[in-house]
Amino acid sequence: MFNRTGRVAVFFVVVLVCLKSLAQVEGRSIAKPRVIVIGVNGMEWDILRPLLLEGKLPNLAGLIKRGVYGKLRTVSAPNCPRVYSTISTSTRPDEHGVTGFIVGGITANSNMLKEEPIWSILSRNNVSVGMANVPATFPVMPVNGYMVSGMLTRGKNCEDGVLCAPKLSEVEGGDAVYPASLKSELLKNVGNFYIDCERMPSAEELNGHESEVIETWLNKVQQIRDQQQRLFDYLLSAHPTDFTWMVQSCEDRTGHWLYPIAPYNAGYNPKIASIKPDAFPSQYVAFDKVLGTILKHTNDQTYVFIISDHGIKPLREFEDTNPHAHMDHEKTTPVIAKHDFADGDDVPGSFIAAGPNIKSNFRLMGFDASVYDIAPTILHIYGIKPLSQMRGRVLEEIFLNSSGQVAKN
Ligand SMILES: [Zn+2]
Repeated sequence: MFNRTGRVAVFFVVVLVCLKSLAQVEGRSIAKPRVIVIGVNGMEWDILRPLLLEGKLPNLAGLIKRGVYGKLRTVSAPNCPRVYSTISTSTRPDEHGVTGFIVGGITANSNMLKEEPIWSILSRNNVSVGMANVPATFPVMPVNGYMVSGMLTRGKNCEDGVLCAPKLSEVEGGDAVYPASLKSELLKNVGNFYIDCERMPSAEELNGHESEVIETWLNKVQQIRDQQQRLFDYLLSAHPTDFTWMVQSCEDRTGHWLYPIAPYNAGYNPKIASIKPDAFPSQYVAFDKVLGTILKHTNDQTYVFIISDHGIKPLREFEDTNPHAHMDHEKTTPVIAKHDFADGDDVPGSFIAAGPNIKSNFRLMGFDASVYDIAPTILHIYGIKPLSQMRGRVLEEIFLNSSGQVAKN
């Protein structure tokens, strides 16, 4: 559990949530800014750029045109739980404690978080919070709103929770939905959806059945994305919140073994990588449709952030010739790309922001923005001072008017 003010913070959240339910207050509080953060794991500019030029990402292109965009500097050896916990606390992995998928031999979980995350800070400042599929949020924690867990949720056929997808009804070892009453509501209105994304197939499963396995796997990935789209659509309709954070993971998962780099890349195997060369770019075309659904719930007064925890790059012959020596994901899958390079600057994430007080068509150069800056910047929009332990800064240059608070809290 979080240190310093963290324990007190959780107490406040619980009190707040109880008071709210006593008063039967539903929906958003009045006159708070509305912020939607969409996380796309491993979103990679090298893949986005040609698709943007071809006009295949109309929703993303529209957001870039009316907003700010650039690279998002990440941490060293980046992977999803490590970076998402950095994003939510604005502290280093060794400080917040979620240093990777496995910590001290145990699958990373929300109880390991030693610094207070943004959803707790916002909740105790009376900002309503909605979260779905954010990595490393299992078991879910009480917030002033709702939380549906994401990557690292454990359950049937996904006992260790690492890069696999349990069904909502088959989650084990903790709660995947807060408040508990929301679970049956989601089962009824959205269905028994998969949490996170499909596990990558092993070399043995692929051997001799490459086309069939890839086809089946990609169909499952699209099924999961359709379910997530329904989930996001339902939550944004039935439970609008001031702050909403939703994440997709299938883009990264697909990139690891179906990155369209040919003819040569360490790990490239034509039996696998030439079957569906458009599989990885197609993930972003599919994401753009999800984005379109989310944007239907916004207006010109809504802040929209699209962020990724890191990019993804092809393996290099001088650095990693063994496709099985892949640290951050399934070791038996023949991977062709990765992101846990020792130097995180090799695999920057993406940053896009648009909203009522955000500059238009403004590019952030170099590494001006980092994963540490996301929480302070969002707190700034709500007029909340960053906590003293936070290592990031408010990205003042993205705002039209950066002087003073954006909102009076
Ligand atoms: Zn990955």
